[in-house]
Amino acid sequence: MGKVYLVGAGPGDLELLTLKALKLIKSADVIIYDRLINPEILTFAKLECEFVYVGKKEGYHTLEQEKINELLHEYAYKNDVVVRLKGGDPFVFGRGGEEMLFLIEHGIEVEVVPGVSSAIGVPTSVGVPLTFRGASSSFAVITGHEDPNKKESSINWDCLKGIDTLVFLMGVSRRREIAQKLLEIGRNPDEPIAFIERGTTSEEKVLFSTLKELSENPIDVKPPALMLVGNVLKIAKKIKELNNY
Ligand code: SAH
Repeated sequence: MGKVYLVGAGPGDLELLTLKALKLIKSADVIIYDRLINPEILTFAKLECEFVYVGKKEGYHTLEQEKINELLHEYAYKNDVVVRLKGGDPFVFGRGGEEMLFLIEHGIEVEVVPGVSSAIGVPTSVGVPLTFRGASSSFAVITGHEDPNKKESSINWDCLKGIDTLVFLMGVSRRREIAQKLLEIGRNPDEPIAFIERGTTSEEKVLFSTLKELSENPIDVKPPALMLVGNVLKIAKKIKELNNY
């Protein structure tokens, strides 16, 4: 029986892969990978490595996750080095925690390898500091996948009033409702927001707006993208002007 490595592949740019991830990709017998993985990463694998694509769209069902768990289990029995490659960091909204728990419960050895999460790496790569002395002392990473109008939300929306910088992942389809909800909890309508599409890739796009504007009129954004909210975006604009980003 082999070992499963839950490996973070970073946000897209090949060079943001860790050395540890690269080493494991090179030695993998099988690589089970997601939709957001830069396909170029797979070229580092050895010739006889088997590739298994398990990409799923936003809003996938639990059943699909169960199938992935089963697949990992099966491959671990048949191979020595199984690399489960996930976008960004494996434990940030990637259901990596669930996969690890499932495998451990089934007696399979697992090691998790951190990656550069899009939640942090993407804002940084476009010059948005998530914290900045005097402007932001805190940030939160939140799922945007959930309907903000749901009665029993798993997100403590009221708490988000007190966090300086907000980073929403998987929030593109609900962007307008998120803005409306943030206004409802009392955030400033003039607060700047930004979307970063396909950060750290050649298709990267940055769009700026405000909470009020977005709540009234959803700007055109395509997933995968991050939604950022906070005054650090004013500093980002200054950095952009001075640095010609
Ligand atoms: N584990 C991943 C996140 C998985 S959830 C990580 O740590 O990055 C998938 C969401 O991540 C997408 O819906 C999008 O909001 C965000 N995302 C991933 N890669 C991105 C990229 N290159 N640019 C912008 N957003 C990205």
